[in-house]
Amino acid sequence: MSQEHNMRRVTAIRNGTVIDHIPAGQAMRVLEMLGLQSSTTVPVSMVMNVPSKKKGTKDIIKVEDRELTQNELNRLALVAPEAHVAIIRAYSVAQKLTIDLGEEVKNVVRCTFSNCITANPREPLPHRLKIYKTDPLQLRCHYCGRPQDLVDVIHNLL
Ligand SMILES: [Zn+2]
Repeated sequence: MSQEHNMRRVTAIRNGTVIDHIPAGQAMRVLEMLGLQSSTTVPVSMVMNVPSKKKGTKDIIKVEDRELTQNELNRLALVAPEAHVAIIRAYSVAQKLTIDLGEEVKNVVRCTFSNCITANPREPLPHRLKIYKTDPLQLRCHYCGRPQDLVDVIHNLL
């Protein structure tokens, strides 16, 4: 099945953001990570389990009238590090954004360990989680070394 066919599954948007190549079944987590599942009034369309050349199947999300910020990209990296993000303006791709997970995520999420030094308000430290492994993603706190549960991480967004 062609790429073009896949793209036509979701209506073309005039302005906004397209997040393609989301691992199949992760679209809901992406929405949750971006805070788009409830607190928004912009139209969001989502397709799940679309055939993909690279990885069997994938999910796609289109967000109208909203361009993802760098901070949102950093959040997205935690659930869909290989996603492709395109900013759409006047029905065409104005900008392609690359997700770079790098070696650490800084000030995106806080450590999930309650006794961590970063949980102490008297020690204002940047929140640093080290990328320990990428596939599947494993994070550890820079300070206490605790491995982070990716499901809990969603609730610890900064
Ligand atoms: Zn910690």
